[in-house]
Amino acid sequence: MRNIPQYPWNCEAKRCAICDGKFGLVRYYCWRTALCSKKCALRFKTRQEGDRRWLRQLHAA
Ligand SMILES: [Zn+2]
Repeated sequence: MRNIPQYPWNCEAKRCAICDGKFGLVRYYCWRTALCSKKCALRFKTRQEGDRRWLRQLHAA
C-alpha cells in the first residue's frame, strides 16, 4: 500500500511540486515534474542532486 501523495507523471499536475503554488502562464519542467518558476526548478534540481549524493553514500557504506 502506498500512502505517499505523488503527482501522476502522465497527468498534468495542478500545482507546483516545490512550493505547492498555482501555475502562472509559464511552466517549468524538471524530471517530468511541473514547477511554477525557475526558482522552484532550481530548488528541485538541488534537491535531486542531494538525494543522489545521499544514495551514493548509502551504497558505499
Ligand atoms: Zn513553485
